[in-house]
Amino acid sequence: MQSMNSLPNSADLYAALNIAPSDHAGGHRYIHVIGTSVFVDTELADDTWERHVVGIVEGDAWWAVDVPAEAEDPSYGSALDLFSYFGRAAQSEWMAAGRAVQIVEWARTHRFCGRCAAPTEPSTGERGMKCPACGLVAYPRVAPAMIVLVTRGEPGPDQEALLARGINFPMPMYSCLAGFVEPGEDLEGAVVREVAEEVGLRVANVSYRASQPWPFPHSLMIGFRAEYASGDLVLDETEIADANWYRRDALPTIPPGISVARRLIDDWLHES
Ligand SMILES: [Zn+2]
Repeated sequence: MQSMNSLPNSADLYAALNIAPSDHAGGHRYIHVIGTSVFVDTELADDTWERHVVGIVEGDAWWAVDVPAEAEDPSYGSALDLFSYFGRAAQSEWMAAGRAVQIVEWARTHRFCGRCAAPTEPSTGERGMKCPACGLVAYPRVAPAMIVLVTRGEPGPDQEALLARGINFPMPMYSCLAGFVEPGEDLEGAVVREVAEEVGLRVANVSYRASQPWPFPHSLMIGFRAEYASGDLVLDETEIADANWYRRDALPTIPPGISVARRLIDDWLHES
């Protein structure tokens, strides 16, 4: 079986930093965040714009630059959304750009204290926005979401996987089931609950496989495998347009390589 543990992790790809280096010997890269699109340049377009350190990518210090909504577009229309940037950038650069967009979006949406509404300030010595009036600190948000490939039957050519088409999918593809983790839940519990809610099945033997930051806008996708235990397919029509069991030799259109869903499916395909 091909192990996903052989894939690089984010720490192998780049060194994320929360505190700006006081002096950096290497070069600098500026990820100008325009809306939620990115324009990467060695020059900073405007030094009055707010910036946040992202980390070190192959010796260069990468910065996230918040381009104000009213500013002239420093990319002259060449900024790319993160989906388009994938494939045109190295994986390390794509992950750093995703981190940049998340940090900028978080800073944009935490300018005031959620408890007392006073304007916040960057917290010293950590990545946080602190309220000078009441002391509340807001940290960057990460929303964990589970994604699961459910299989049915013994390992081998006759084993099937459950793939579903969400009602919001932009194209007619079939993927793994996914859903956000609720407060008070563990990850395995979220897998069991979401599968039951979305397709009416009971699953067992939930096992972790891989994770992926998913900056749309601030998720962490946590990928699992699970085995069918009981029940018949009953779709939650508010979320799932179609779902079926598929053998490896009769797959529908599956997601592109950007997603952990594809990695879960590819891993299963390589088992046989
Ligand atoms: Zn406050």
